[in-house]
This record gives sequence, C-alpha cells and structure tokens, in this order.
Amino acid sequence: MSADTSLMPIPGPIDPVPVARPVTPRADGRVELVGLARDAIRDALEEAGLEPRQAKLRAKQLWHWIYNRGVSDISLMTDIAKVQQPWIAERFIITRPEVIEAQVSTDGTRKWLLRTHDAHDYEMVFIPDADRGTLCVSSQVGCTLNCRFCHTGTMRLVRNLEPAEIVGQVMLARDALGEWPSAPEGRMLTNIVMMGMGEPLYNFENVRDALKIVMDGDGLGLSKRRITLSTSGVVPMMARAGAEIGVNLAVSLHAVTKEVRDEIVPINRKYGIEELLQACADYPGANNARRITFEYVMLRDKNDSDADARELVRLIKHYDLPAKVNLIPFNPWPGATYECSTPERIRSFSNIIFAGGISAPVRTPRGRDIDAACGQLKTASQKKSRAELDRLAEEKQAALEAE
Ligand code: SAH
Ligand code: SF4
Repeated sequence: MSADTSLMPIPGPIDPVPVARPVTPRADGRVELVGLARDAIRDALEEAGLEPRQAKLRAKQLWHWIYNRGVSDISLMTDIAKVQQPWIAERFIITRPEVIEAQVSTDGTRKWLLRTHDAHDYEMVFIPDADRGTLCVSSQVGCTLNCRFCHTGTMRLVRNLEPAEIVGQVMLARDALGEWPSAPEGRMLTNIVMMGMGEPLYNFENVRDALKIVMDGDGLGLSKRRITLSTSGVVPMMARAGAEIGVNLAVSLHAVTKEVRDEIVPINRKYGIEELLQACADYPGANNARRITFEYVMLRDKNDSDADARELVRLIKHYDLPAKVNLIPFNPWPGATYECSTPERIRSFSNIIFAGGISAPVRTPRGRDIDAACGQLKTASQKKSRAELDRLAEEKQAALEAE
C-alpha cells in the first residue's frame, strides 16, 4: 500500500476519498486561513500581492490573532494597518465549523453536531473531569472501516476532514469554554484525543498538519504529551505517526486471537496482531513514562474470558511493550449485535491484567444519555436499515480484501 494515505483511493464500491488539496476553494473565492501552516499563510499573502517582508510580518500577526487570541474578525486585529484590513478580508477568511446542535449530558459531557461548508455532518465531544478536560476530535466524516461494535463503522466514509476542520474543532471548544487567549495554565481543555469519528491514520497528512498547529507553542499550545491518537491498527502508517506527529499512541486492540479480532476489527485481516504489536514495539518515544494504551472493549462472551486476559498479558510481555490497558465497557447503539460484559467479568479481566503487572483501569462511560460515549458517534443523516448495514459491511470487507 502506498504510504500517502491522503491520496489513497478507497477501492471497491466505497465512496472515494477526495484528493488532498491545501486550500479548498470557497464559493466567494476567499481562502480559509485556519489550518494553514505559518509559511503557507505567508505564501498565500505573497501570492495575493504583498511584498515578501510585509507578507512575513502579516503572517506572523495573523497567526497570533487566530491561534493565540481566537479572533476571526480581521478588523479587530489592531496591529494590522487599518487600510490593509479590508484588503485582507476581501481575500481571506477565518471560520469555525458550523454548529448544528449542542447537547449537554447529565454528567457534564458535551457533544456538538458540526457541519462542513459542503454540508457534511460530524461530531465532537468534550469530557470534563475534576483535574482535566478532554476533547474528543473527529478525523473523518464516517469511517472506511467497519468494526462490528462501533456505530461510526456503520456509516460510509463520506470524506476526510481537512486541517481547518480538525483544528477548527479545538478552536470551537475554546470559544465555547471561553479560553482565549491561549494560556498555558488554568485551562479546562487540557487534553485531546483523536478518538471521534473516523480512522486518523487513513487521513494522515491532514491530521498531522492540524495537530502541528494544535501543538505549536505560539499556536494553540497543547503539549504532545497531552494529545493521544487512537488507531484501529493501520500498521504502515504507525512509524510515520511517531516520527512526524509524535503524540501518545492508543491502539484499538479489542481481541487477542486472530479469529475474534478478524471478526470484530476487520482491518486485522490485513494487518494481524503480531504485525500490529511489532509496530507498537517500534513506535518512537514509547517508554515507561509514555506508555502505549491498548483499548479493549468488553463484549460479553466474545473477548472477555480469563484466558483472553492472560493472553493479553502474555502478548504485551512477549513484545516487551511499555503499555497500559484501557478497558471500555461496550456502549450500546440501536442495531448493535453485542452486549456489554457483566461488571463481575470486567473486574475479573482487569484483575488478571493488574496481577500481570500492567495497569488496566475500567473506563467510566461518559455522555451515554446523549450518545456521546465511545463508539456511539454517528450523524443522523446516515440512518440505515439492518439489511443495508449488512450489505455495507460486506462491501467494506470486500474493499478491504481487494486493497
Ligand atoms: N478509529 C479510531 C479512533 C476512534 S474510536 C480507532 O478505532 O481507534 C475510539 C475508541 O472507541 C476505539 O478504541 C473504538 O474501538 C472504541 N469503540 C468503538 N465503538 C465502541 C462501543 N460501541 N463501545 C465502546 N467502545 C467503542
Ligand atoms: Fe472506524 Fe474506529 Fe469505529 Fe473502527 S472503531 S469503525 S476504525 S471509528
């Protein structure tokens, strides 16, 4: 497979992934500044006609206003000459994803339904805790993969989100929380997890470019140690993720045998457990202080036996992985064919892993009442019948095997 996933066509009858474009043309011809690297802003200003030195200065100023102050209105950028402001505003624009609906769970979790400028819906979730606040960010509208327990997996891939739409989620959360200017201390939004809709490593370039802006000390200023990227196991992209993004890695393992993982995480038929764990062992920067998280969804009578737990410990030790295990109680959704393991089963599973010297906390489901919990994200416009879901699952599988 080509490593350049942004240009990778999704084979078979799946909707194609659009070819990556640095700037999406808008109907009014203006260029979106959010999501452009600092140099790209400078280049765009130069192309529009500014002198190189002017372009460099204005790019620096714009960057600061956009990412440090959260300002989208160019007329409020006081250090840019008044006469030049309209010239910039005619050619450039600074936007946020459109908010269609905002919901709050009884536990304080917040979910936003967002819409792209070409009318595709996606979601983001904010999970407040006593000592931190985590934003769960989407990377795609829908998902090409088809993990059997995941609601997003029942959607087709509609399209990759662009850097502006990925960074835009973080900026929108800052707007909602009143967290401008970017301050290093006392923020509610302290952590980011790429665990919303989509497989981030199938939208690698856009996710990387967006996270670079999020991590920029003069930008949104979130440390890479507070960002986690979760993958279902796109093995060929994992080394690049480590080298070019360098954030914490979470891997959706969910099963320890080929038979079960092939069924519930179908990408396993392409990249098996051994290959995946080897890629984890090779992940740069993983050590005891920065462990790899293995996510493991607890599915009743499917992957939750004591033998499974023991095998998980054996595998982690065999590959000598600095790892922790996150046990996720299965979150139900309409039409799902699995059930959550019993609390006793989950406890026993967790105890075996702890006894093996590996931390294995059970994740408390958050925002279930507003369908904001892990695996519940799916935009309403995509509702399908059970028969359609089965057909779609077969299509996706055929496409994966043909790749
Ligand atoms: N596509 C990426 C990231 C998004 S999913 C990935 O698969 O890793 C975030 C996590 O939620 C993954 O570990 C996913 O497997 C898990 N998940 C999906 N559906 C779930 C469900 N119904 N209940 C609990 N966890 C689920
Ligand atoms: Fe896609 Fe992740 Fe859901 Fe699997 S679990 S279908 S990779 S979003």
